[in-house]
Amino acid sequence: MAGLYVHVPFCSQRCVYCDFYFTTTRRDEGSYVRAIRAEAERLGAEYRERAPLATLYLGGGTPSLLSPDALAGVIDAAHDHFDTAGLAEVTVEANPEDLSGDDGAAWLRAARDLGVTRLSLGVQSFFDDDLAFMNRAHDAAQAQAGVEAAVAEIGDVSVDLIFGVPDQPFEHWGANLQKAVRLGATHVSTYSLTVEDRTPLRKLVDLGRVVPEGDETLRERYLFTHDYLGGHGFEHYEVSSFARPGHRSRHNESYWTHGTVIGLGPSAHSFWRETRSRGWRWADVAHLGRWQGLLLAGESPVDWREQIGPDELADEAVLLGLRRLEDGLDLDRIERDYGVDLLTERRAELAALEGAGLVEVGARRVRLTIEGAAVADAVALRLVG
Ligand code: SF4
Repeated sequence: MAGLYVHVPFCSQRCVYCDFYFTTTRRDEGSYVRAIRAEAERLGAEYRERAPLATLYLGGGTPSLLSPDALAGVIDAAHDHFDTAGLAEVTVEANPEDLSGDDGAAWLRAARDLGVTRLSLGVQSFFDDDLAFMNRAHDAAQAQAGVEAAVAEIGDVSVDLIFGVPDQPFEHWGANLQKAVRLGATHVSTYSLTVEDRTPLRKLVDLGRVVPEGDETLRERYLFTHDYLGGHGFEHYEVSSFARPGHRSRHNESYWTHGTVIGLGPSAHSFWRETRSRGWRWADVAHLGRWQGLLLAGESPVDWREQIGPDELADEAVLLGLRRLEDGLDLDRIERDYGVDLLTERRAELAALEGAGLVEVGARRVRLTIEGAAVADAVALRLVG
């Protein structure tokens, strides 16, 4: 089974930390939906039989900026051109400001009627000063109202929260988690504020106007989050992801387990697992106008495509597999699929990481400890390359 990802590139304004592809220019939904249909037809012809869909995920950008008609056009394109008989999860990312009032209620009803089973809300904080710093388009009242409306209409709601906002009091972070739980979120994703290149935040940091929080503060927030959400019935199943039982993100599980994910939309990435030890990855052009122009002229919108062999797949399996905190790395699978005996090849590193309390090494499995999860990327990088 496979996942289908649709990138919706429209945003109302630029968040300070964002390095995704998006555009704030005026939306031409008609052309966008026609191009999505054209791409679904192209890829469906190739993958309909080979990759029946288990999940559909509309991400962005801001999919909740699509009108109900455009949302229907995108979801219909998936049903029309792919095998959706086994579709078990349809997730749409939404921003809180789009879900309030009569328009928001109508959008949520339309989403539910279209078969959307899960919303992922970009809340980031329930405090006005954090939201203003991040240049989010919503305020604290809209954050709360958006979650309430989504929970009431869709039920299965994931809330994204960002920790490590400079000078954010510790109590605010605790209150953010508390509010997400109290409002009925079934899933919480937490990310530390990261300074990516080519973002307004990068400029502010380079100019010395913003000083990022230090590693120890981030570690404290992370460990607190693990304890708090764990104490309120959430399973910490992936480095950044917490779910009530039965509410994990199936779509994201595909990424973490090297499952096939077909991408539609400007900048969308795809991964096709051709054999156990070989795959293909490709990405569409990251420009709405060019992407639409190519598709509407009957041409491929793919910007680059690469074949991935066993060594690179093995490294990716380590980087991604470690993120799954319960399963961790299945050493037998890595050896069987990619011919890499991690226990032998990385004996010294694994012993050092275990000695530092960052991993647990079992007979045929390696898992991050919670201290290791707090610095997951740094741990994983010591086991690849
Ligand atoms: S709404 Fe999301 S995609 Fe758009 S600018 Fe903000 S973080 Fe980036």
